[in-house]
Amino acid sequence: MSPTIGILALQGAVDLHASALARLDIEAVMVRTPTQLDTVDALILPGGESSAMSKLLVLNGLFDPLQIRLHDGMPALGTCAGMILLAAGVLDGRADQRSFAAIDIDVRRNAFGRQNDSFETELELPEIGEVPIHAVFIRAPVVERTGAEVEVLATIDGDRPVACRQGAVIVTSFHPELADDLRVHELFLAGVAA
Ligand code: GLN
Repeated sequence: MSPTIGILALQGAVDLHASALARLDIEAVMVRTPTQLDTVDALILPGGESSAMSKLLVLNGLFDPLQIRLHDGMPALGTCAGMILLAAGVLDGRADQRSFAAIDIDVRRNAFGRQNDSFETELELPEIGEVPIHAVFIRAPVVERTGAEVEVLATIDGDRPVACRQGAVIVTSFHPELADDLRVHELFLAGVAA
Protein backbone atom coordinates (compact mmCIF):
# COMPACT_ATOMS: atom_id res chain seq x y z
CA MET A 1 0.00 0.00 0.00
CA SER A 2 1.27 3.46 -0.79
CA PRO A 3 1.96 5.73 2.15
CA THR A 4 -0.69 8.22 3.27
CA ILE A 5 0.43 11.83 3.00
CA GLY A 6 -1.08 14.46 5.27
CA ILE A 7 -1.08 18.23 5.07
CA LEU A 8 -1.19 20.24 8.28
CA ALA A 9 -4.37 22.22 7.60
CA LEU A 10 -4.69 24.67 10.47
CA GLN A 11 -3.75 27.79 8.54
CA GLY A 12 -1.86 28.93 5.46
CA ALA A 13 -1.20 27.67 1.94
CA VAL A 14 -2.86 24.28 2.35
CA ASP A 15 -4.79 24.02 -0.92
CA LEU A 16 -1.84 24.56 -3.22
CA HIS A 17 0.04 21.68 -1.62
CA ALA A 18 -3.09 19.55 -1.98
CA SER A 19 -3.31 20.36 -5.68
CA ALA A 20 0.41 19.70 -6.19
CA LEU A 21 -0.11 16.24 -4.66
CA ALA A 22 -3.29 15.72 -6.69
CA ARG A 23 -1.25 16.28 -9.84
CA LEU A 24 0.94 13.42 -8.63
CA ASP A 25 -2.21 11.30 -8.15
CA ILE A 26 -2.06 11.54 -4.39
CA GLU A 27 -5.08 12.42 -2.34
CA ALA A 28 -3.79 14.09 0.80
CA VAL A 29 -5.39 13.85 4.23
CA MET A 30 -6.08 17.20 5.88
CA VAL A 31 -4.64 17.07 9.40
CA ARG A 32 -6.33 19.22 12.05
CA THR A 33 -6.67 16.75 14.93
CA PRO A 34 -4.56 14.07 16.65
CA THR A 35 -6.88 11.39 15.22
CA GLN A 36 -6.23 12.58 11.69
CA LEU A 37 -2.51 12.69 12.43
CA ASP A 38 -2.65 9.01 13.40
CA THR A 39 -3.80 8.11 9.88
CA VAL A 40 -0.85 9.60 7.99
CA ASP A 41 2.64 8.30 7.29
CA ALA A 42 4.20 11.64 6.36
CA LEU A 43 3.24 15.29 6.70
CA ILE A 44 3.57 18.54 4.77
CA LEU A 45 3.70 21.71 6.88
CA PRO A 46 2.70 24.59 4.60
CA GLY A 47 3.56 28.26 4.45
CA GLY A 48 1.47 30.75 6.35
CA GLU A 49 2.18 32.35 9.68
CA SER A 50 4.32 30.18 11.92
CA SER A 51 3.36 31.94 15.16
CA ALA A 52 -0.36 31.50 14.39
CA MET A 53 0.21 27.87 13.44
CA SER A 54 2.17 27.28 16.62
CA LYS A 55 -0.74 28.63 18.65
CA LEU A 56 -3.32 26.54 16.75
CA LEU A 57 -1.17 23.41 17.11
CA VAL A 58 -1.25 23.84 20.89
CA LEU A 59 -4.98 24.74 20.97
CA ASN A 60 -5.92 21.70 18.86
CA GLY A 61 -3.90 19.35 21.05
CA LEU A 62 -1.72 18.55 18.08
CA PHE A 63 1.63 19.95 19.14
CA ASP A 64 2.76 17.14 21.44
CA PRO A 65 1.53 14.19 19.32
CA LEU A 66 3.10 15.71 16.23
CA GLN A 67 6.38 16.30 18.04
CA ILE A 68 6.43 12.65 19.09
CA ARG A 69 5.76 11.46 15.52
CA LEU A 70 8.51 13.72 14.16
CA HIS A 71 11.00 12.57 16.76
CA ASP A 72 10.06 8.98 15.89
CA GLY A 73 11.18 9.72 12.33
CA MET A 74 8.02 10.61 10.43
CA PRO A 75 9.02 12.17 7.08
CA ALA A 76 8.05 15.83 6.76
CA LEU A 77 8.24 18.64 4.22
CA GLY A 78 8.12 22.16 5.64
CA THR A 79 7.80 25.15 3.36
CA CYS A 80 8.39 28.69 4.63
CA ALA A 81 6.35 28.87 7.87
CA GLY A 82 6.51 25.04 7.84
CA MET A 83 10.30 25.29 7.80
CA ILE A 84 10.16 27.54 10.84
CA LEU A 85 7.95 25.04 12.68
CA LEU A 86 10.33 22.16 11.97
CA ALA A 87 13.48 24.07 13.01
CA ALA A 88 15.41 23.59 16.23
CA GLY A 89 15.76 27.31 16.87
CA VAL A 90 13.67 30.29 15.78
CA LEU A 91 15.13 33.81 15.77
CA ASP A 92 12.80 36.82 15.69
CA GLY A 93 9.90 34.60 16.68
CA ARG A 94 7.11 35.53 19.05
CA ALA A 95 7.98 34.81 22.67
CA ASP A 96 5.42 32.00 22.91
CA GLN A 97 6.19 30.50 19.51
CA ARG A 98 7.17 26.83 19.59
CA SER A 99 8.98 24.63 17.10
CA PHE A 100 9.53 20.89 16.73
CA ALA A 101 13.31 20.60 16.37
CA ALA A 102 12.77 17.96 13.67
CA ILE A 103 15.78 19.31 11.77
CA ASP A 104 18.91 20.72 13.37
CA ILE A 105 18.78 24.25 11.99
CA ASP A 106 18.16 27.71 13.39
CA VAL A 107 16.10 30.02 11.22
CA ARG A 108 15.44 33.72 11.28
CA ARG A 109 11.91 34.81 10.40
CA ASN A 110 11.27 37.46 7.74
CA ALA A 111 14.99 37.53 7.12
CA PHE A 112 15.06 39.27 3.77
CA GLY A 113 13.85 42.55 5.22
CA ARG A 114 10.95 44.78 4.26
CA GLN A 115 12.42 46.13 1.03
CA ASN A 116 12.82 42.69 -0.29
CA ASP A 117 10.16 40.77 1.53
CA SER A 118 8.78 38.99 -1.52
CA PHE A 119 10.70 38.01 -4.60
CA GLU A 120 11.12 35.24 -7.14
CA THR A 121 14.28 33.74 -8.51
CA GLU A 122 15.58 30.78 -10.49
CA LEU A 123 17.21 28.64 -7.86
CA GLU A 124 19.72 25.88 -8.40
CA LEU A 125 18.81 22.78 -6.45
CA PRO A 126 21.05 20.05 -7.88
CA GLU A 127 19.27 17.29 -5.95
CA ILE A 128 16.21 17.67 -8.22
CA GLY A 129 18.13 18.08 -11.45
CA GLU A 130 20.08 20.57 -13.51
CA VAL A 131 17.18 22.83 -14.43
CA PRO A 132 16.76 25.50 -11.73
CA ILE A 133 13.45 25.72 -9.91
CA HIS A 134 11.36 28.89 -10.00
CA ALA A 135 11.41 29.79 -6.32
CA VAL A 136 8.87 32.17 -4.81
CA PHE A 137 9.90 33.76 -1.50
CA ILE A 138 7.23 35.49 0.62
CA ARG A 139 8.37 37.00 3.92
CA ALA A 140 10.70 34.05 3.96
CA PRO A 141 13.01 32.74 6.69
CA VAL A 142 16.68 32.02 6.16
CA VAL A 143 18.77 29.41 7.84
CA GLU A 144 21.39 30.88 10.15
CA ARG A 145 22.84 27.66 11.56
CA THR A 146 22.97 24.11 10.25
CA GLY A 147 23.95 21.15 12.41
CA ALA A 148 26.44 18.51 11.29
CA GLU A 149 23.68 16.13 10.13
CA VAL A 150 22.04 18.69 7.86
CA GLU A 151 22.55 18.74 4.08
CA VAL A 152 22.22 22.13 2.43
CA LEU A 153 20.34 21.57 -0.85
CA ALA A 154 20.22 25.16 -2.10
CA THR A 155 21.58 28.57 -1.20
CA ILE A 156 20.85 32.14 -2.16
CA ASP A 157 23.28 35.08 -2.24
CA GLY A 158 26.13 32.57 -2.29
CA ASP A 159 25.92 31.29 1.24
CA ARG A 160 22.44 31.60 2.75
CA PRO A 161 20.79 28.15 2.89
CA VAL A 162 17.20 28.13 1.65
CA ALA A 163 16.63 24.37 1.28
CA CYS A 164 17.92 21.72 3.66
CA ARG A 165 17.44 18.05 4.44
CA GLN A 166 18.11 15.85 7.43
CA GLY A 167 17.05 12.24 6.92
CA ALA A 168 13.46 12.28 5.69
CA VAL A 169 12.83 15.91 6.70
CA ILE A 170 13.09 18.53 3.95
CA VAL A 171 12.61 22.25 4.46
CA THR A 172 12.51 25.16 2.03
CA SER A 173 12.39 28.91 2.66
CA PHE A 174 10.44 29.29 -0.58
CA HIS A 175 7.08 27.98 -1.78
CA PRO A 176 7.54 25.05 -4.20
CA GLU A 177 3.74 24.66 -4.31
CA LEU A 178 3.49 28.07 -6.04
CA ALA A 179 5.67 27.04 -8.97
CA ASP A 180 4.47 24.88 -11.80
CA ASP A 181 7.09 22.35 -10.81
CA LEU A 182 6.55 19.22 -8.78
CA ARG A 183 10.17 18.22 -8.26
CA VAL A 184 10.45 19.23 -4.59
CA HIS A 185 7.27 17.28 -3.81
CA GLU A 186 8.69 14.33 -5.77
CA LEU A 187 11.96 14.52 -3.83
CA PHE A 188 9.99 14.47 -0.59
CA LEU A 189 7.88 11.52 -1.74
CA ALA A 190 11.01 9.61 -2.76
CA GLY A 191 12.25 10.05 0.83
CA VAL A 192 8.90 8.84 2.17
CA ALA A 193 9.08 5.71 0.03
CA ALA A 194 12.68 4.96 1.01
N1 GLN B 1 6.83 35.14 7.74
C1 GLN B 1 6.05 33.96 7.98
C2 GLN B 1 6.32 33.40 9.38
O1 GLN B 1 7.14 33.86 10.07
C3 GLN B 1 6.32 32.90 6.96
C4 GLN B 1 5.86 33.38 5.60
C5 GLN B 1 5.36 32.29 4.71
O2 GLN B 1 5.13 31.16 5.11
N2 GLN B 1 5.12 32.67 3.48
O3 GLN B 1 5.69 32.49 9.79
